[in-house]
Amino acid sequence: AAVVVAAASTTLAAVSCGSGTGNTSAGKDPPVIGVLLPDATTARWETRDRPLLEKRIKELCDDCRIEHANARGDVAIQQEQMDSLITEHADAILLVPVDARALAASVRKAHAAGIPVISYDRLADGPVSGYVSFDGQEVGRLQGRALLRAMGDKAHGGRIVMMNGDPSDPNAVSFKRGALSVLQGKVEIAKAYDTLMWRTEAANRNMAGALSALGAGRIDGVYAANDGLAAGSITALKANKVRPLPPVTGQDAELAAVRRIVAGEQYETVYKPFGPEASAGGAMAVAAARGSGLDRVATGRVTTSEGTAVPAVRLTPVSVTAADVKRILVKDGAYTVRQICTPQ
Ligand code: BGC
Repeated sequence: AAVVVAAASTTLAAVSCGSGTGNTSAGKDPPVIGVLLPDATTARWETRDRPLLEKRIKELCDDCRIEHANARGDVAIQQEQMDSLITEHADAILLVPVDARALAASVRKAHAAGIPVISYDRLADGPVSGYVSFDGQEVGRLQGRALLRAMGDKAHGGRIVMMNGDPSDPNAVSFKRGALSVLQGKVEIAKAYDTLMWRTEAANRNMAGALSALGAGRIDGVYAANDGLAAGSITALKANKVRPLPPVTGQDAELAAVRRIVAGEQYETVYKPFGPEASAGGAMAVAAARGSGLDRVATGRVTTSEGTAVPAVRLTPVSVTAADVKRILVKDGAYTVRQICTPQ
């Protein structure tokens, strides 16, 4: 597993962790851990998860070699990245699938080659060995409740637009289900969109369409499944001079979203502390690479698409509005006040 090949189409970048001299002199290859991230449009993957995962893996295994790659929202590229790691006999793969179902065959191939796959944040179909994520339905419920709170009188019979994520991401399905369990029967869902690859520009276009179909000023609230979709929606609302802006939800506590919340442009975001998620994901990947049990890291189990119960960690998300930015985000070390208040 020592050979690192950068296939042109997949741009697998090898990051060497630690000196690795101990193992090299003993004639043993350092373990290779693949870290496959889904896209570069959502800020969290490259700016939060990647450095946190690399730090955690290095902490637990200083001679581990990390091969990171980002599929940039392209299923075929991620399949090639999986193939490349399988060919190189990686010791474990931490995977955030671009499309859970489409990656199942790659997960199966890795499994057949004896390479454990840890599904990170999104549950891939196929024989994954472990899973780390947040409670997705709870994310949706938090967003739904926040939206109703912000809508005041309009929380009974008001009109909302729903900006959902990509349905090939099982999390998007959970967020939507959780949100609908709170919103249905209370508000009128005047328009609902799925957003392929979670693209901000698509949310922007969809909101522009909703505004021309419904009329500016006729939207009392916007359910946006994450901060990227919130950004696209708010840009369209502002371009159409909608004032005051209706409350808009979000997710990820991206720095840009936190700034919008402080500025009064976005009502809410859901904070998912990425530190604990990366910590559990990194620990599972190292345990898997070493062939030691994942149950020491897990707090529960999840049932895979194959019907097998595998070790899992499921963390709790937190809703954040302007009143909570300091108490929750700053206190937790997510950002400093200075970072939040410094204009981009
Ligand atoms: C993640 C979210 C993220 C979204 C878009 C979801 O699977 O849970 O945190 O905003 O994907 O990348």
